[in-house]
Amino acid sequence: MTAPLYPQATTAAEITANLATIQARINAACAACGREPDEVRLLPVSKTVPAERLHFAYDAGIRLLGENKVQEAYDKWQALADLDGLNWAVIGHLQSNKVKYVARFAAEFQALDSLDIAESLDRRLQQEGRSLDVFVQVNTSDEPQKYGMTPDAADAFIRALPQYNSLRLRGLMTLALFSDDHAAVRRCFVRLRELRDRLRETNPAIAELSMGMSGDFELAIAEGATTVRVGQAIFGARKTPDSEYWPGLAPENR
Ligand SMILES: *Cc1c(COP(=O)(O)O)cnc(C)c1O
Repeated sequence: MTAPLYPQATTAAEITANLATIQARINAACAACGREPDEVRLLPVSKTVPAERLHFAYDAGIRLLGENKVQEAYDKWQALADLDGLNWAVIGHLQSNKVKYVARFAAEFQALDSLDIAESLDRRLQQEGRSLDVFVQVNTSDEPQKYGMTPDAADAFIRALPQYNSLRLRGLMTLALFSDDHAAVRRCFVRLRELRDRLRETNPAIAELSMGMSGDFELAIAEGATTVRVGQAIFGARKTPDSEYWPGLAPENR
């Protein structure tokens, strides 16, 4: 797969320009499938972008940032504590020893995939006197190494969540297959949407679909994404290979 070129955005003006380009693409993707642009929330993903550069993101109007790794997110939250109204979404797999950090600073957590984590998050949130928006991560690509639960496991999992009342269930999240095969990528998004539609019949809170990244967000919007998580198209290409975040990626995508 030849990576598209994402030039580095290092000033507020460059970030503003990239945001405008992405918003235009979101608008076009919505127009193409008869949706309204305000149904799609853009979540800028800032992993590997140093805190100093995130001041420019703030100046460009960004008030919510997604981070894959908790420690990195926590450090940036501390470094940028002076930026009023800046919120953080943790979008990567969470280990139990990091739960306490998420409970302290995150506004949302998009990678919930076990009851153990739900329980310890809830306990920590009670201690902090906070609550947290959560998305259940679903593995829609059938790649065994990917995080997230199988679509079949989601029903029982979601039935068990209400006992953790600091967690506010918002919807589902997935990472599609990393592939140039659009039909195969799209099947992942369709799977998440169909699962959401089924679960929503008994649980109306499950409204959101967090799916789509720099390389595939238009396809995700066509299949109903309500949140797209976009990093490189805003901030520039990452040097850190994606296998750092998603163990088991096929070698050609490393
Ligand atoms: C990094 C990341 C993204 C954004 O990927 P880009 O290629 O930078 O757009 C989306 N979701 C998750 C879970 C990520 O870790």
